[in-house]
Amino acid sequence: MHDLADVPRVLRTPAELRLQSERWRAAGLSVALVPTMGALHEGHRSLIVRARAECDRAVVSIFVNPTQFTSRTDLARYPRTLDADLALLASEGVEAVFVPDAGAMYGDGFTTSVRVGGPVTGTLEGAHRPGHFDGVALVVAKLLIAARADRAYFGEKDAQQCAVVRRLAEDLDTGTEIVVCPTVRDADGLALSSRNVHLSAPERAQALAIPEGLAAAARSLAAGERGGRVLAAAASTVIASAPDLVVEYVAVVDPDTFEPVERVTGRARILVAARIGATRLIDTLCLGAADPPTTAFIVGGTSTDPAEVASTGRSRTCSVPS
Ligand code: AMP
Repeated sequence: MHDLADVPRVLRTPAELRLQSERWRAAGLSVALVPTMGALHEGHRSLIVRARAECDRAVVSIFVNPTQFTSRTDLARYPRTLDADLALLASEGVEAVFVPDAGAMYGDGFTTSVRVGGPVTGTLEGAHRPGHFDGVALVVAKLLIAARADRAYFGEKDAQQCAVVRRLAEDLDTGTEIVVCPTVRDADGLALSSRNVHLSAPERAQALAIPEGLAAAARSLAAGERGGRVLAAAASTVIASAPDLVVEYVAVVDPDTFEPVERVTGRARILVAARIGATRLIDTLCLGAADPPTTAFIVGGTSTDPAEVASTGRSRTCSVPS
């Protein structure tokens, strides 16, 4: 347990972050970075818990990065809960929090862009939110440069983002290991997201069709179906049963390239993006027996891995990854 009075040190500029990291490294301490946009929930907490378990010092960044938003309205209504976030970080014993404003990240005369090429940025999220991954790549590059972390922690829920970040970290020789952590879900299966606070109770009930759709695809795979399009259709049918969910895409893809898979013979990933009202939700599940467990569940202490529920009809107790 950590003392709530142990508030994290607040860093406001990339230079302050760099200095803090240099001090830690000079003392022989390993450094973890957990990039977030704040409005922290149990999904973020799972990344933080793992970061603290694996590294000597952890810094969490909280920055609602304007360059990765493709809608001004989405940026304006993105939840901001800094006081509660700091309390969560204090309760987890996080040593430092990086909270820059936009001016500290993108000062006067800023003109640099960072672009990861290839299908991984061209399909799905990349196609539906043009420019989104350029914004992600830019901010993550800046964070990795300033934090000089040994490891940076990301959530599998944003699987395509993880692939973009992995590519970027490798191509730019950042020396930071990218660690991908399982998706944390609510007890009913809905993946936790900062945007879930915008859902009304009826919207939230309908949003459950998303994890249920993923579970249907996993069930169909377990029953022997191998066709990528058929598996995606199994998910789509369930999702379409929620009258107000507007599907942007449902796709079964190669987990590395994010290109569509005709037949699932090894690893594959199913991804969904859908809107309900003004809220956009994404979710994903790894398909294929060769993979390690991909979905952890923490809230309430019960596993709601959609694949597991699909195959056993039950959920199980599991613990925070550490
Ligand atoms: P965000 O604040 O939404 O940008 O997310 C910050 C990090 O937390 C990203 O790496 C996300 O993938 C991760 N994350 C968001 N939701 C979850 C979740 N439900 N489970 C695990 N990680 C998550």
